[in-house]
Amino acid sequence: MSQIHNASPLLQIPRSPLLMLSPDVAERIAAGEVIERPVSVIKELLENALDAGAKEIRVEVRGGGLRLMRVTDDGYGIPEDELEHVSLRHTTSKIRSVEDLSHLHTLGFRGEALASIAAVSEATLLSRAIETDGLGENHAALSVTIRGGEITQRGRRARLHGTTVTVRDLFYNVPARLKFMRGARTENAHMLQLLQRYALGYPAIRFNLVVDEHIALQTSGSGDLAVALAELYHLPLSEMLHPVHMSDGAHYTIHGYIGNRVLAQSNRQYVMLFVNGRWVQSRPLQDALEEGYRSLLPKGKHPLLVLFLEVPAEQLDANVHPAKIEVRLEYEGEIADALTRAVRSVLEQSPALPDSIQFPGPVLANQRRLPGPRRRGLRVSESAEGYKAENAPPGTTEVIGSLRPLAQLQQAVILAEAPDGSLYLVDQHRAHERVIYEHLRRLYAGGRQQDEIVEGHLLLEPVIVEMKRYQADLLEQRLPMLRGLGIECERFGGRSFLIRSVPGGEDGAGQEQLVAHMQELAETAAEDSSDWEDHLLIGLSCRSAMRRGRELGSGEQQALLKALASVSAPAVCPHGSPILLHYSRTFLIDKFDW
Ligand code: ADP
Ligand code: MG
Repeated sequence: MSQIHNASPLLQIPRSPLLMLSPDVAERIAAGEVIERPVSVIKELLENALDAGAKEIRVEVRGGGLRLMRVTDDGYGIPEDELEHVSLRHTTSKIRSVEDLSHLHTLGFRGEALASIAAVSEATLLSRAIETDGLGENHAALSVTIRGGEITQRGRRARLHGTTVTVRDLFYNVPARLKFMRGARTENAHMLQLLQRYALGYPAIRFNLVVDEHIALQTSGSGDLAVALAELYHLPLSEMLHPVHMSDGAHYTIHGYIGNRVLAQSNRQYVMLFVNGRWVQSRPLQDALEEGYRSLLPKGKHPLLVLFLEVPAEQLDANVHPAKIEVRLEYEGEIADALTRAVRSVLEQSPALPDSIQFPGPVLANQRRLPGPRRRGLRVSESAEGYKAENAPPGTTEVIGSLRPLAQLQQAVILAEAPDGSLYLVDQHRAHERVIYEHLRRLYAGGRQQDEIVEGHLLLEPVIVEMKRYQADLLEQRLPMLRGLGIECERFGGRSFLIRSVPGGEDGAGQEQLVAHMQELAETAAEDSSDWEDHLLIGLSCRSAMRRGRELGSGEQQALLKALASVSAPAVCPHGSPILLHYSRTFLIDKFDW
């Protein structure tokens, strides 16, 4: 795994000399404002540092970024004769021609960031090119300061190879922007979030963020994404992260981690996708990810996930948006499907955990006051070692198939032992609901194709339901589809309907429950939404599933577990709530102090 994360698609290309793009190339570049607020400066400077092959990047912020922002890298640096020119518009060492736009290997390519930054601040560039390394450690690096587009100062300072860009007085000459700046706390929060994102996107690089003299973020650059996640969020993550790896062998590979359902959040901030090393927020890809978890998490919840999509450079168009956060992909449809499948396959199997989780862990937990002035090369504690998620656990379906039921708790939960000695708690109602739901869905889909019909269970006494007018018309149109589900229903004059049969099942108890809820189910069947069929299937499974409070013999427990092992999403009920609670071996060892 770590090998993959170490290899950035971006850093292998040697630097070319700086060039001013010709007007026809410049014209082809997505135009627009890039520097909207302090965090946009940091983003551009980070990308430059990454493009320069940095292994360590340090960011310092004061006064919410308005007073000072400084990004220091140990990348290949800027040659002396170019330093005064890099902040001119359309100067870049990254592309030469229009054709280069169609196979980018760098995050930057517009040649505008430094120019835009220098136009609205006082910017000081200090750099020493890697080619001068032979000249000794204390070789003086060149610095230039630009204010209002003019060079106001030149100087020299000893340093190792790499670049430091210091931005002071942001927006001093754009009062309209300044007026709309939010407080320093808000800006700092944006910057922390940005750094977290890049630290996850580039786990092999050491990141360090200092906000007003406090360390706000620090990663070790281990190259292991799981370690980076643990370092950033301060969680024992190995049991909560499911590795993903898939590829069609030609157009894409997808790898990364998807967090256990207990890490799900009520915002999308932790749904992170990198395409060829670039963090993107492309609508179709976001939608594809969301499609993957929509029915598997409670409504309004979003998973923690970090996925890396790698595609051949020529199949990616990053020149869509000035801030380069949108991309177009050549095989977008296939890739979107793959993303959906990746997310779904993990969350369908992801059990709940007994420990209540505070996520993110205390975000600034490692925030410390810096000892003395500034220190170089601070390291993160070694404890992250333990977080490596190396041995992928066996698939949940496999485990459920080999569970040994031990007992039933409160006539509601089956306790079962897994072969590795861990304990599973299984909610019997939800497990049964999931089994019925997938059964109905299979039959229904099959029935529609082959014109088959689910066998109904004829009721001794038909049930009458009353609809509102608009519901009655919708229901009437849907009667043939209901028949496909084993629900024999007919209009009984006016807004009344007569239900003669319900979907058949193996025991009578389910049917009794269904009959008691016929009114509610008929209303679902008459719902004015495109999801009504799925809602109805969910309603039917919920109402016919065995309830909590029913005693199960060990044979019945075994049968239910066996049925659950055969479904595609054994961890989540159709409403998105957990079916399984897992007390892992490490949990027991940890809690008992064995
Ligand atoms: P772009 O990144 O699109 O080329 P920028 O305005 O961000 O445009 O930077 C202009 C040029 O300055 C880059 O092409 C690169 O050659 C040089 N440069 C900027 N930042 C760095 C850095 N941290 N290390 C090395 N070179 C840099
Ligand atoms: Mg750039």
